Amino acid sequence: MSEHSIASRAAPPGLSHHLADYAAARRSFTWEHARLALTGGSDPRLNIAYEAVDRQVQRGCGVWLAARFIDRAGVRVDLTYSQLQRSCARFANVLGALGIGRGAAVATLLGRTPELFTVALGALKAGNVFCPLFSAFGPEPLKTRLMLGHIQVLVTTATFYRRKVEGIRALLGELRQVLIVREDANEALPAGTTDFAELLREASELFQTAATRDTDVALLHFTSGTTGMPKGVTLTHAAVIAQHATSELVLDLHPQEVYWCTADPGWVTGIAYGLIGPLTCAVTMIVDREEFDPQRWYQILAEEHVNVWYTAPTAIRMLMKAGTELTRAHQYPHLRLMASVGEPLNAEAVIWGVQAFGQPFHDTWWQTETGAIMIANFAAGEVVAGSMGRAVPGIDAAVVRRTAAGGIEAIDSPDEVGEIALRPGWPSMFSGYLDNPERYRASFHDGWYLAGDLARRDREGYFWFIGRADDVIKSSGHLISPFEVESALMQHPAVAQAAVIGIPDPIAGQAVKAFVELKSGVAPDEALRLKILGHARHLLGAAVAPREIAFSQALPRTRSGKIMRRLLRARELGLPEGDLSTLEGEP
Ligand code: ATP
Ligand code: MG
Repeated sequence: MSEHSIASRAAPPGLSHHLADYAAARRSFTWEHARLALTGGSDPRLNIAYEAVDRQVQRGCGVWLAARFIDRAGVRVDLTYSQLQRSCARFANVLGALGIGRGAAVATLLGRTPELFTVALGALKAGNVFCPLFSAFGPEPLKTRLMLGHIQVLVTTATFYRRKVEGIRALLGELRQVLIVREDANEALPAGTTDFAELLREASELFQTAATRDTDVALLHFTSGTTGMPKGVTLTHAAVIAQHATSELVLDLHPQEVYWCTADPGWVTGIAYGLIGPLTCAVTMIVDREEFDPQRWYQILAEEHVNVWYTAPTAIRMLMKAGTELTRAHQYPHLRLMASVGEPLNAEAVIWGVQAFGQPFHDTWWQTETGAIMIANFAAGEVVAGSMGRAVPGIDAAVVRRTAAGGIEAIDSPDEVGEIALRPGWPSMFSGYLDNPERYRASFHDGWYLAGDLARRDREGYFWFIGRADDVIKSSGHLISPFEVESALMQHPAVAQAAVIGIPDPIAGQAVKAFVELKSGVAPDEALRLKILGHARHLLGAAVAPREIAFSQALPRTRSGKIMRRLLRARELGLPEGDLSTLEGEP
């Protein structure tokens, strides 16, 4: 193994990893078996909500806790699988009573609440399409998504409705029903809306799950908008097969374990691994209703005895910035697996995990379009720090190049950079881009799905992220990986985060410019700038190191925490900023 290998935490006594032997798992895994293992039979019907909730109740696990919601004051609301089953059945009946036909889209604009679970799974149970909308969106991004998604039912609060939807309602011809989750019982209902709780109370707890099939559309997710206008991505009920399999193989979830996914349900991770996958594994999910706060997070990890934690690089970097004294104020004897997704995870952050928690973070790679984790560092064995890991069993992933003849060919030689490509055929592969069939068709070429991310693969099959195809820098004929430069910058003790872009250069074509966010308490001055430049040159060499470094108070990020290099580029070059609907801090 390489210098980057770090041992994972061993499985506790009595628990065996779902994936103990990678090579054996890759050999024996098939999606047919995965479907069978999930559903226990060859019924042509398949429904996400049924697999997530009803199946657990049917197995006799109805009294187990499905989720624990924690509010600002630390008050906990617990939800069992049986309770969730009943509320979902009621909501499925409500949709029928309102005359909402099967296949119609139902959206939520809610915080991380039990009602969101009820609506998401109730809609799926009824055979409707569920679309989570991020609750911090303002009227403009909501209008675009509600229209593009042909949303017929919106479930929200009175506050959100008045602030964000009332003013655009007249434009939303397809929106038939707005249901209000009251925040307090005396709150008045806005005109043109209906009380969610009252409808639910009146509905029956019995509902025969819709006879959906693998290919029926179930979910509509909007991408993060990191590289441009967010795209509407549809996933089918078959996604549950891959979301379940990866919740076992990668997140290693076991029944009744405590699991915390910190992603908001407004994004695909918050539904695939913050709702569906974990429920199919019969775990107890922790749902924090508050925003990120280091002390609060450490307290939750410790007090709730979290076993498995799935988070994101941006949160990890913020925890690093806050310092390990805070981490060490608690102990985490129950925590056995920490994983990350959404952005490249620098080796620095993986190693920090060992210092702070005594175990590394496990990076995973996937996209809204793939519907489930595709590449991962697995729970058993070693983590390769700085690498995204290896292809999940059942996934044929490669690094490819375009040939002169216009085809695609897999790159066999190790460490050569190319685009990440996946062989279509896994169950959670997206079924379309909403209203954009051409773009969907264009993502497939020569028998591959092209992911738009560049990477290299080493001899052992580990993938190393280079950058998004849109973000990589070409300088004097060399391809420069923004990720590599950012990782080198992050190794400087004063640097908390970094983002690099290419700026025009008359001789080299492009030169590297870095934007650096410093750790708290570090003052930006010329001497430090030169020191960081020197550090980068020393590590990377003059051809790859940034030519310019600018200090930034806060790098522009998407609401899901991804650095928006396209915005840094646009601002640097004085170009239009493009779609800002997912920019953090925008109204
Ligand atoms: P948009 O497509 O609208 O620009 P987005 O690609 O950020 O937004 P998502 O589908 O949420 O929307 O994110 C998937 C992308 O996130 C991947 O294509 C990849 O670029 C990045 N990503 C996810 N996981 C990792 C990882 N482990 N390492 C590096 N990059 C990652
Ligand atoms: Mg994308």
